[in-house]
Amino acid sequence: MTSRAASLPPRPVRVFSSWDRRSVPAPEVPREAESSFYHRILEGSREGVAVVDSAGHIVFCNGAAAALFGSTPEDLAGREFGFPYARSGEPAAIEIFTGGQPTFVEMVATPMSWRDGEATIVHLRDVTKWREAAAQIGMQSKALEATANGVIITTRDGIISWANPAFIKMAGFEQGDVIGKSSTMLKADLGDDPLADAVAHLTAMSETWKGRVVNRRKDGALYTAEQTTTPIHDATGRLSHFVTVLEDISERLKAEDELVRLSEYDVLTGLPNRSVFMDRLRLAIERAARAEAAVAVMVMDLDNFRSINNTLGHDVGDALLCAVTQRVQKITRTTDTLARLGGDDFGILLEDVTDMAAASRTVRSIVNAFHAPVQAKGHSIEVTVSVGIAAYPKDDTDPLSLLREAELAMYQAKSEGRDAFRYFDKEMDADIRRRVRIETDLRHALEQNQLWLAYQPQMDLATGKLTGAEALIRWNHPERGLISPGEFIPIAETSGLILPIGDWIIEEICRQRQIWQVLGLPELRLGFNVSGVQFRQRNLFEQVTSALERCGLAPSTLDIEITESVAMEGTGRVQENVDRLTAAGVSMSMDDFGTGYSSLSNLQAFPVCRLKVDGSFVRGIGRAKDDEKIVEAVVRLGQSLGLTVVAEGVETIEQLKFLKDRACDEIQGYWLSKPLPPAEFRRFVESFTCPDISE
Ligand code: C2E
Ligand code: MG
Ligand code: MG
Repeated sequence: MTSRAASLPPRPVRVFSSWDRRSVPAPEVPREAESSFYHRILEGSREGVAVVDSAGHIVFCNGAAAALFGSTPEDLAGREFGFPYARSGEPAAIEIFTGGQPTFVEMVATPMSWRDGEATIVHLRDVTKWREAAAQIGMQSKALEATANGVIITTRDGIISWANPAFIKMAGFEQGDVIGKSSTMLKADLGDDPLADAVAHLTAMSETWKGRVVNRRKDGALYTAEQTTTPIHDATGRLSHFVTVLEDISERLKAEDELVRLSEYDVLTGLPNRSVFMDRLRLAIERAARAEAAVAVMVMDLDNFRSINNTLGHDVGDALLCAVTQRVQKITRTTDTLARLGGDDFGILLEDVTDMAAASRTVRSIVNAFHAPVQAKGHSIEVTVSVGIAAYPKDDTDPLSLLREAELAMYQAKSEGRDAFRYFDKEMDADIRRRVRIETDLRHALEQNQLWLAYQPQMDLATGKLTGAEALIRWNHPERGLISPGEFIPIAETSGLILPIGDWIIEEICRQRQIWQVLGLPELRLGFNVSGVQFRQRNLFEQVTSALERCGLAPSTLDIEITESVAMEGTGRVQENVDRLTAAGVSMSMDDFGTGYSSLSNLQAFPVCRLKVDGSFVRGIGRAKDDEKIVEAVVRLGQSLGLTVVAEGVETIEQLKFLKDRACDEIQGYWLSKPLPPAEFRRFVESFTCPDISE
């Protein structure tokens, strides 16, 4: 803001004419001195005076006039004046060039009689500065007229004396409506009156006032404007006017509001987003801390949302998310917060939870609400949800940790079979940490040659001869020693690392088989395990056949073990690869048979050659009648379908005999041999003699 001292012109000295003329005697001027007396006055005048005779010659000119022409009175005397002037006494302007910038001179001509004739007195005044100032003012007022901001000038009493077209347009008035009226007519009359405050402030402080005002248009509509009002002082330094500049910011405010809404709310479902959820959670924790209450944080995830999205399309996926939102909204109270945290993750915040039983009731209702299908774009979709819960202050006291813990609990619910809810507990945390570490280390395991394949032999029970071996992956962790595939394969599957690992296994098994072939080892079929992820994301047919070809191996040397869950998936991709591989001569085994949910129809749809009875049932032989019944049934089923039945996990001679009596075809297990490193496996095969199993 400009200070008063800097913006105002110096105050002129005021002189009051209180002196008495009569008390001063008139000056005595001798007649002979009279002419030179007036001459001196003219000479001393700063205004130019010239006398031009009827013939147009200069008969007199004072110093100021001569200076305007860049000359002296002596030099100009008798010369032709040469400039047009009106004799009417109206001012005329001339432009004089005396080198450099032109000088604008205003001339006022007055006729006089002189030496029995006519002459003209010409008064000359330099108006260059005035003209410049006038041009400047003209330009400024044009700019004010043209500016996009509304500008009004009011008197110090608030009467509008001028308004530019932009203001007229902004306020929706005509010029005639506002000029001469009080500026209070513009205001919205919403109780407060910032403009009046501004004027009061300005009158007192003589400073520029800036602020936001709400005004009313002629049609009654309100608009918000950014207002700057500056006081104007007259030459004596007194406040005379205000200049007010108004920028209509209604549209900008609307856009800003929209942006805030967009940055806080999810466009699809209209729910608050993650950042709003976190804010509310923080506030809820603060309130609960004062009231010694509890807060429950839930994270809900749709099971199988990705596959719904992929198979039915994103439109249906979007509609499903909206329908899910509505379903959960029916269960939660208005005081609870339901937010979309991203993707198919929702956050639910329950405040004022007096006991966790109330939270349990809510979460149970949510999970159960999805036991009826959800309608989305004409599709009736079976969708279930997994929910994780963490509570303040039981589990943690800060929002981020609570959300993370609720997420961990949700993952736990998912890994335990979905369609459920779980409370967070600290052990879960340790479990997740371990998983994360394994995943990180596994990324380097391949390139650092920490992975290798062990081979576990299989034997024909009828002949006592070796038939093949299963390749089982091993990980020599530099610090933790040998890590079992049961621990890291599931992590490799969820992280996608199973793809490069699976690629390596196919190459490695073919390379090993080729070496043994060259060394003249008896021809054994090598089985290896393949994950569902590999079937879905790799062209397994292409991969296996080209590896076989590169190593010069017959397709019948390999056997692919798939699990029931992969077979169950029955997607086109799995089926197509399995069909092409078996057509090429690579055999298939159904691994862990009995543990999954495969139905007979599923089994028949897949061209498997072998059923592998899961070790857990074999272990029950001699101990659990149910297990024995399952083993018997699986063996019979295999026989009726013409499949080879291989019993896994055979550790004792009793188990072996039980299987042999039921005409199970082959066995694999510690009784025969543990999975062996390649060199030991070679020695085992070379020195293998058929054991006596007749008794
Ligand atoms: P699986 O395919 O059913 O493999 C048989 C498992 O039983 C192996 O465990 C083997 O060491 C174990 N086993 C064999 N005989 C006996 C026995 O007499 N007693 C007992 N107690 N266990 C026996 P392993 O090597 O720990 O592998 C576990 C699972 O990890 C495998 O089950 C398979 O599903 C998976 N896996 C192993 N290697 C690979 C691989 O290269 N790729 C993939 N995708 N999965 C693999
Ligand atoms: Mg296997
Ligand atoms: Mg198995």
